[in-house]
Amino acid sequence: MTIDRIIHLTVGIVFFIIFLKLSKSPINTRLIIGFIAMAIGTWMPDWDLLLGIGFHRSPITHSALPALLVGWLVYKSKLQPILIIGFCLGLSSHLAWDIVAYGNVQWISGGNNDRLFLFINALILIIVAIVINKKPLTNHST
Ligand SMILES: [Zn+2]
Repeated sequence: MTIDRIIHLTVGIVFFIIFLKLSKSPINTRLIIGFIAMAIGTWMPDWDLLLGIGFHRSPITHSALPALLVGWLVYKSKLQPILIIGFCLGLSSHLAWDIVAYGNVQWISGGNNDRLFLFINALILIIVAIVINKKPLTNHST
């Protein structure tokens, strides 16, 4: 595990804890699932390297788009909404840290535009997590 990975995971854990505190989520087993989804969310944007997109900090993986895909999969497979909540928080934390640490996204020119792009997407992800937490997409009662 690289230092970068550890930092992203740590920021994700902070986001997750803050979310649990603010949303007053009950502490139960579904949080373990949420935690795993969060950990994947912190990692996923850097799959642009693994998937051979060919360059790092792709705007496709460093945006709310992956959450749309995961959300669709979770909804279609009738999986627990905590999966998408955790994923959104992890992904959002990754984008937030990239604003602080790097700020450069491919295809977007100008450091401030990159940061604005990351910020807007991070914000969308947090709003999605809050909305889904209040009103789950599926009928699971956990
Ligand atoms: Zn990144």
